[in-house]
Amino acid sequence: MEKIVSLCKRRGFVYPGSEIYGGLKGTWDYGPLGAELKFNIKQEWWKSMVRNREDVVGISASILMNPKVWEASGHTAGFTDPLVECKICHQRFRADQDDVIKEHEKFHEKNKEKASWTESKKFNLLVEVKIGVVEGEKDSAYLRGEITQGVHVNFKNILNSSRLKIPFGVAQIGKAFRNEITPGNFTYRSIEFEQMELQYYVKPDEKESMRQYEFWKNLRFAWYKSLGIKPKNLRFREHTKDELAHYARAAWDIEYNAPFGWKECEGLHHRGDWDLSRHQEFSGQDMSYFNEETKERYIPWVIETSGGVDRAALFFLIDAYTQEGDRIVLKLNPKIAPFKVAVFPLLANKPQLVELAHKIYIDLKKDFNVAWDERGNIGKRYYSQDEIGTPWCVTVDFDSLEKGDVTVRNRDTMKQERIKIDELKNYFEDKLK
Ligand SMILES: [Zn+2]
Repeated sequence: MEKIVSLCKRRGFVYPGSEIYGGLKGTWDYGPLGAELKFNIKQEWWKSMVRNREDVVGISASILMNPKVWEASGHTAGFTDPLVECKICHQRFRADQDDVIKEHEKFHEKNKEKASWTESKKFNLLVEVKIGVVEGEKDSAYLRGEITQGVHVNFKNILNSSRLKIPFGVAQIGKAFRNEITPGNFTYRSIEFEQMELQYYVKPDEKESMRQYEFWKNLRFAWYKSLGIKPKNLRFREHTKDELAHYARAAWDIEYNAPFGWKECEGLHHRGDWDLSRHQEFSGQDMSYFNEETKERYIPWVIETSGGVDRAALFFLIDAYTQEGDRIVLKLNPKIAPFKVAVFPLLANKPQLVELAHKIYIDLKKDFNVAWDERGNIGKRYYSQDEIGTPWCVTVDFDSLEKGDVTVRNRDTMKQERIKIDELKNYFEDKLK
């Protein structure tokens, strides 16, 4: 883990938040490579969950919402009851519920862990903000504690402005904020984080909704594998009774085998009609769905897939980190690698080589994120690109000037082949399919 944290800072994936001022606990800043990695992960998710589907649309809701939203969702209930938090798994329980707390301690005992608890406190999980320009006339609001509710409050708007019919889903990517009392494990648990979620609306039917639930559960697991996470480092885990939200009909996590234990990277929740019913109750607006063909009216049930962009980025990095002798390689799937290609002139002091290499670099940049390097020798440049996961390196040498071809070196096999300059674009496009 220390190696990952150090690589992230040294190469520009992740820096501690506002570091020159001594930082701010639980916040992180993504550098040039981290920003690309996150962008690529989000793009792959959006492609898989929205663009490639006929039954899913995307939205982008506001971070600030009417505070009543959080009453309806139950987020502000914890303000009144003192809670304790398990220091191992960060679950919170009402401090007065001794039996639940004992049961949770037993759960850890089974895993040969000794649970310990924070002092009992009134937790405000939501980050409070003041809106308004005049002192004393400001309204309290919250930064959203989850992006989920931005979808549900727009259920009717989406229905009325599209031609969607149940079953259908609404996807969203965006930031959420939580007052974590124990942030930690690098970017894994932070106060500010980015989520990627699908809310899939289905008919209230036990069998059909469970069929949908299984479909999404398996699709999300397959997504992590398709982007290169080793299958042995992924598993499903069903929520135990004391973890299960009272409204949940089923809840499983996809977990990753991190250096700090098996950790949740995505939650798959069958939420029943909880969200829409609560919003109907608290807003006084009708949140039902009407099926024109069967003339049925009902509040849909919701299947949710809820993943963290930061967690995914961290787990992709950890999983890709490979040490081969003194070579460090990030074996990231090319689709999410920050740079797809790096271009070098064999020698930096030969203007003809530099000129041709630079032309190739500029051409490829129109279609891919490409790195340029002319420092040191070729070996050092390979080493530097391997460490940030660049899948291919292109070297322009004296033969290139004569024959119009270049050496393409593969990060994982270290094999080299000669490719015609005017075929490079097709070559990489093919590899990235
Ligand atoms: Zn625990």
